[in-house]
Amino acid sequence: MSGHNPTSTLAERVRIALNNDFLRNAVRFTTERLRTNKQAAAEQIGNWEEWRERGRQIRLHTIAHLDYYLAQFAENLRRAGGYVHFASTAEEAVAITLQIMAAKQAKSVVKSKSMVSEEVHINQALEEQGIETVETDLGEYIIQLAGETPSHIIIPAIHKNKAQVAELFSEVAGEPLPADTAVLAAFARSKLRGKFLEADIGMTGCNFAIAESGSIVLFSNEGNARMVSTVPRTQITMMGMERILPSWEDLEVMATLLPRSATGQKLTVYMSAINGPRRTADGDGPDELHVIIIDNGRSRQLGDPEFQEVLNCIRCGACLNACPVYRHIGGHAYGWVYSGPIGAVLTPVLNEEKEKWAEVANASTLCGACYEACPVKIPLHDMLVYIRRRNVEEGRTKRTERLGMKTYKVAVSSHRFYQLALKLGRIGQKPLVRDGQIPTRLGPLKGWNNVRTAPALAERSFRESWQALERELQQEMAEMSPQVKARLEELAGKRGDRHEQ
Ligand code: SF4
Repeated sequence: MSGHNPTSTLAERVRIALNNDFLRNAVRFTTERLRTNKQAAAEQIGNWEEWRERGRQIRLHTIAHLDYYLAQFAENLRRAGGYVHFASTAEEAVAITLQIMAAKQAKSVVKSKSMVSEEVHINQALEEQGIETVETDLGEYIIQLAGETPSHIIIPAIHKNKAQVAELFSEVAGEPLPADTAVLAAFARSKLRGKFLEADIGMTGCNFAIAESGSIVLFSNEGNARMVSTVPRTQITMMGMERILPSWEDLEVMATLLPRSATGQKLTVYMSAINGPRRTADGDGPDELHVIIIDNGRSRQLGDPEFQEVLNCIRCGACLNACPVYRHIGGHAYGWVYSGPIGAVLTPVLNEEKEKWAEVANASTLCGACYEACPVKIPLHDMLVYIRRRNVEEGRTKRTERLGMKTYKVAVSSHRFYQLALKLGRIGQKPLVRDGQIPTRLGPLKGWNNVRTAPALAERSFRESWQALERELQQEMAEMSPQVKARLEELAGKRGDRHEQ
């Protein structure tokens, strides 16, 4: 599976994922480890719920005043000598990037991990212009060589094993490399070192932008973001417009929540703060710093009572690790850049082609594990229900589903209809039932029976069984001697008195 594949249906992508045993084991193993680490980190800090609430309040406040903080950030960054660009769409973000590349006559770019750059498909655009583009985060480097997209927000190559990585690296090395983590990491390091030194442009994402000082803050575990933002002479930073924080004090809260939620680390290994381009006394840093602030559907959520909170996301990936659906199917089944519960919301909400992405919101059991895991308490499960409701209201559901729901509505609207539906169901299922189950793979049962077997309707409903039991009891009572009956009534009366006390 090569990742981003909007031409196939969700069901097709899920089927491919479910048939890939290696992927399922790898995703389950890694998400389990991340989840356990996160739980330990949360327990260790003690008052995790208070931190979560503080994080939520900061994000709510920031997004409610996004225009103010964006303007403050832009003004402060410009004052520090940086260039600020606003891009309404992915196409605009790409066009701005290409203009900067052309002005610098750039031939090569090194990138650190950036989900928003995946969102605007900048790599393809740069490569079409003949600009060599190299991902320098190890996971991103692996999937770039494989021609794939990330399958997890923070662990892009979660679905690859050592042997597969060795195969990819051997092709680049021109000789066979062993499936040994230390050897493979050393190979990537030596290969990328040269790319850092040669690149004309360094391109980064942005974990947080601090409005009060116009600073960009990057969290990284590999140190590559620091190389990307200090060695090349020009730096381009792409940031989603919601990545703002008002102050450094707010960053302290996020720096507590993000690494713990993502991997269970107390601190990210490297936290870099970039305050404009290099000044005369600085030892390193770019001569020119461009920050592209990208909207691409985000501002449509502002003022929407159901979806504004999705902009609070700090992209920690904790909801993916907690999600029972993601843990089975991995990230590529979601079809776009973002996966897991946050992807199931962001994909239909940010994309304007609603028809194409509507079904992604169905990749959820609505269990709420994502909300429990989220460090800023985003109610993703509620949002998934809103998206499904809109899909129904705006006619984006299948005809068979609409018909099924209408029939169900009629059946459960009165006791009489419900009983009738049960009777008809029992008659209808007769030719299909084998040993109390319906193993057929036809019609609506096809998808269900691919991975389990549908139980047949019971011969008697609970209500019918209850009524039968009552009748039996009455019969037995009628057949009892008057003395036994009196004694039973006396005992029942005493029991009732005890309950009342
Ligand atoms: S929705 Fe919450 S848990 Fe999921 S990535 Fe965003 S901040 Fe993390």
